[in-house]
Amino acid sequence: MENIVAKKKFGQNFLKDESVLRKIIEAMPNNDNKIVEIGPGLGDLTKFLVDVKSVDAFEVDTDLCKVLQTKFEKEIATKQLHIHCGDVLTAWKSELIEESYDLVANLPYYIATNIILKALADPKCKNILVMVQLEVAEKFCAHEGDRVFGSLSVITQSVGEAHIVVIVPPSAFEPQPKINSAVFLIQKNSDRSDKDFEDMLRVAFTQPRKTLMKNLSSKYEKSILQEAFLKLSLAQTIRPHQVSTNDYHQLYKLTRSLDGTRE
Ligand code: SAM
Repeated sequence: MENIVAKKKFGQNFLKDESVLRKIIEAMPNNDNKIVEIGPGLGDLTKFLVDVKSVDAFEVDTDLCKVLQTKFEKEIATKQLHIHCGDVLTAWKSELIEESYDLVANLPYYIATNIILKALADPKCKNILVMVQLEVAEKFCAHEGDRVFGSLSVITQSVGEAHIVVIVPPSAFEPQPKINSAVFLIQKNSDRSDKDFEDMLRVAFTQPRKTLMKNLSSKYEKSILQEAFLKLSLAQTIRPHQVSTNDYHQLYKLTRSLDGTRE
């Protein structure tokens, strides 16, 4: 590794297994969108990406920015690559990327969920192909009835479809993390994103092993919930992970309209 010592505080685990890099490239949706890469690191994934697409990359580590600027001098000059050196959480504004884009990245794990939620809510982001820790990938890709089906799964299913592309062992990285990782793909087909709906989901899953009725009763009147559950044929004993995304949307609409009629 070009005399660079990995910095733990930036979640630096560099992907060295070329077969995984190739699987990421093969899984990329076939379109003309540009790519946003978060955390290019030493540029191992970036070099494959700039071969096929134009890339906007965000890197917080100034030492790595210098490495990237030297390594990709040609691609930067031809505007195939634009490196934004800074913290993505403050540097990445929706208006910065003007056209449709796909997010493709081996994400810094400590902010991965936050970044994916931001991309899911951004209408310009069309697809998300990212590496995160396996446990997190499973939450985004879970289906109704799965033990880990939760608010992240419902938010994802509300805007598209998700699946795991490949599970990646620690040995693929340098330095090696302690946990398994996974690459997963979300193909968006809608821009539906509603903050109030997401707030309801957070309440619905506050205590995942309790009943949905119990969790939601901290937000809604019991009589409203009973009527809505009856209309949707949901058992009062149902647990939050057993309810489908469609039923969550129906429940949201019904509780709002019943709430309105009783004011
Ligand atoms: N893409 C490289 C690879 O696959 O080898 C590196 C991936 S490493 C898991 C995460 C990268 O994200 C590191 O380069 C790290 O410096 C960068 N990073 C961490 N926090 C960041 C932040 N807040 N904004 C932008 N980049 C960040």
